[in-house]
Amino acid sequence: RPFTPPDADAGNVKVVVRVRKFIKRDLEKHSPCIIRMNPNTQETTILPPEIASEDVKTSRKVYEERKFTFDKSFWSHEETDGHYAGQQDVYASFGEEFLDHNFDGYHTCIFAYGQTGSGKSYTMMGTLDEPGLIPRTCRGLFERIESEQNSSITYGVHVSYFEIYNEHVKDLLGPRTNPPTYLKIRESKSDGVYVQNLTDEPVMSYEDIERLMKVGDMNRTTASTKMNDTSSRSHAVFTLTLKQIQHDIATDSTIERLARMRLVDLAGSERANRTEATGQRLREGGNINQSLTTLGRVIAALADPKRQRASRMTGLQNQTKRRAEVVPYRDSVLTWLLKDSLGGNSKTAMVACISPTDYEETLSTLRYADQAK
Ligand code: ADP
Repeated sequence: RPFTPPDADAGNVKVVVRVRKFIKRDLEKHSPCIIRMNPNTQETTILPPEIASEDVKTSRKVYEERKFTFDKSFWSHEETDGHYAGQQDVYASFGEEFLDHNFDGYHTCIFAYGQTGSGKSYTMMGTLDEPGLIPRTCRGLFERIESEQNSSITYGVHVSYFEIYNEHVKDLLGPRTNPPTYLKIRESKSDGVYVQNLTDEPVMSYEDIERLMKVGDMNRTTASTKMNDTSSRSHAVFTLTLKQIQHDIATDSTIERLARMRLVDLAGSERANRTEATGQRLREGGNINQSLTTLGRVIAALADPKRQRASRMTGLQNQTKRRAEVVPYRDSVLTWLLKDSLGGNSKTAMVACISPTDYEETLSTLRYADQAK
């Protein structure tokens, strides 16, 4: 018997912001840090470059100071003051809570949004020394399963990893082909929306997943060097599926809970803003723009309980209202595929990754995150 979780609480969407550390590029350009964060109020302020530093002569464009408040602001500069947040802090602030949710039978989704170079893959995948949300979630998942060894629950974990490039789905765990094979998206009554023939590997330990992460990341990077950095122009979707089968000896019945965790490294948001592109780049930009805009609209609709309720309403008298409120999942492959993980009964977090030095792109990311709240 499949388990249907009760309706989750309101407030299913968390929006957090993380500023990247200063890297060589910023130091070489002598760019000032234009971001301030208040750890008590979770306020993030973006300063016009000319206020942040007296030395910088800016163009004639009008820059203004703007303030935003998010669920959490993660600061990355150890040397400045006490509120530094490292990889473990980011995971502890909502990754663990999301795992609780998965064990309760709910789906979750975590997105990293931001321009290329803003720290999305650092936040999601991280490095060998500083693992990010994906490896930490995988480790946490198996630690929990191992600590429950003697219970009456049997666990099964599967991993898939795919990339959406130009509205096409590519399996990152499948065999490499030249030209690349794109997989079809299907929809069925029993399985919902799914990718046909996508590798969905059963895993028994964290080490099994680690091996798959390496395969997937290699497939992503190999393709990107050949095709001039596709990775910043594609969405990478890492999925963990947790199946729990609970045996009830008294009634000799079983209850099955299925939860999916989607961990998504989105395409660089700068493509969505640029207008000078032509040909292939223009099409890519358009597709990225479309999927990021749709994602923003979907998340905003989910974050607004009134809209959620409206989209669940049935009955003819509500038809017109419902049509206007409908969540536009089908407007992009990304949101269509993630529909069941984004619905009213799952938890979503968006990590808006920002550079500490790039006024225009950072402001655009903060605005995007703000409208998703
Ligand atoms: P993106 O995935 O958005 O293109 P990356 O994650 O590759 O960006 O980050 C760009 C660079 O900045 C990388 O060298 C990465 O290691 C570094 N970096 C990003 N965020 C942080 C952080 N919070 N702390 C330390 N280094 C970071």
